Amino acid sequence: MMRIIDELRDVKSIAISGHVRPDGDCVGSVMGLYLYLKNELPDAVIDAYLEQPADIFGCISHIEDIKSDFNTDRVYDAFVALDTVPDRMGGAAEIYSRARKKINIDHHISNPGHGDVSVVEPERSSTAELLYDLMEPDRVDEEVAKAIYIGIIHDTGVLRYSNTSPRTLQVAAELVKFGFDFSKIIEETFFEKTYLQTQIMGRAILESMRILDDRCIVSVVSRRMMEFYRVTSKDLEGIVNQLQSVRGVHCAIFMHETGTQEYKVSMRSDGEVDVAAVAVKFGGGGHVRAAGCTMNGTYRDNINNLCREIAEQLKDK
Ligand code: AMP
Ligand code: MN
Ligand code: MN
Repeated sequence: MMRIIDELRDVKSIAISGHVRPDGDCVGSVMGLYLYLKNELPDAVIDAYLEQPADIFGCISHIEDIKSDFNTDRVYDAFVALDTVPDRMGGAAEIYSRARKKINIDHHISNPGHGDVSVVEPERSSTAELLYDLMEPDRVDEEVAKAIYIGIIHDTGVLRYSNTSPRTLQVAAELVKFGFDFSKIIEETFFEKTYLQTQIMGRAILESMRILDDRCIVSVVSRRMMEFYRVTSKDLEGIVNQLQSVRGVHCAIFMHETGTQEYKVSMRSDGEVDVAAVAVKFGGGGHVRAAGCTMNGTYRDNINNLCREIAEQLKDK
């Protein structure tokens, strides 16, 4: 197995980044690697680029070092892309394209591989879990462990989704040995919601509809609704999972408006529907049970287009 440090030992400048609207795996992986490399390569310039992470990630050491201004002419010796393909890097894509050595580490089945060194392992629960196995375990400290732990927790729904493997649990066990307050981290980064986040979740659930013989559930949040509840995209995390928890539902679709006739689509399934395959058809990607894409058009058209694909998959089931 490749060791991340062997790929970076001789470089003088490194940029690390992930995907737009960074989730827990993305933030945890980027910060885990950032903190690890800061320890290992004290003389190198190491910069982490990401859109401003949600406040819940404030518990990660040095999270304030993240650069959210992507306007730089700097040509880095190496760029490590975590949990993403270049198309989904947003402003960091240009920094990536200029970098001398490109390293891709991901667990998305839809990642075809890119860059000079590519490690894509779809059977991994999270990029964070994979990243841990590319580190020297005895060089991991408590702060690195915490960041990686957050990544794993978020992509596995606290070690409960079927992407959780024996290795995931072993890695989690090795990480909690550092003694950080994992219970507090889970509560504060995963379960706790603000009042307004809870209200908009309630509204989205209340207005959800079951379609395709009740085997699929959909809900949409408009810009107006988001303005009314004073929430942004980051506040909608968890809604699609809640919809997928409805008994009998094989597939949940949650959409929120991100621009004029532009929607970010999140899909979850119980395994009966391959939502990654659906997302890929619309320019997105993900995993069999969790995937997403961005769609243009009215939400009715978008639902119709998605449901055509889902119905096709469900027709013999
Ligand atoms: P989300 O619904 O945004 O929580 O995403 C579910 C899964 O699909 C995550 O693993 C995402 O990284 C992935 N995903 C979401 N949107 C996209 C996209 N536009 N392209 C590729 N993968 C995506
Ligand atoms: Mn992600
Ligand atoms: Mn991930």
